[in-house]
Amino acid sequence: MAVPKRKTSPSKRNMRRSHHALKPAPFQECTNCGELKLPHNLCAACGHYNGREIVSTEG
Ligand SMILES: [Zn+2]
Repeated sequence: MAVPKRKTSPSKRNMRRSHHALKPAPFQECTNCGELKLPHNLCAACGHYNGREIVSTEG
């Protein structure tokens, strides 16, 4: 099995991890009810997507 010859230095380790930060979720307002929702996802509050009701919210 191939094994690294040297321990990764803190600098190299931190350079690798410089891309690991999480971005904030891109919330958008629902065009029907105004609740925050994720783009390309059904609105959890009113069940609308693309101007139509996909899932009924009663019950
Ligand atoms: Zn909605």
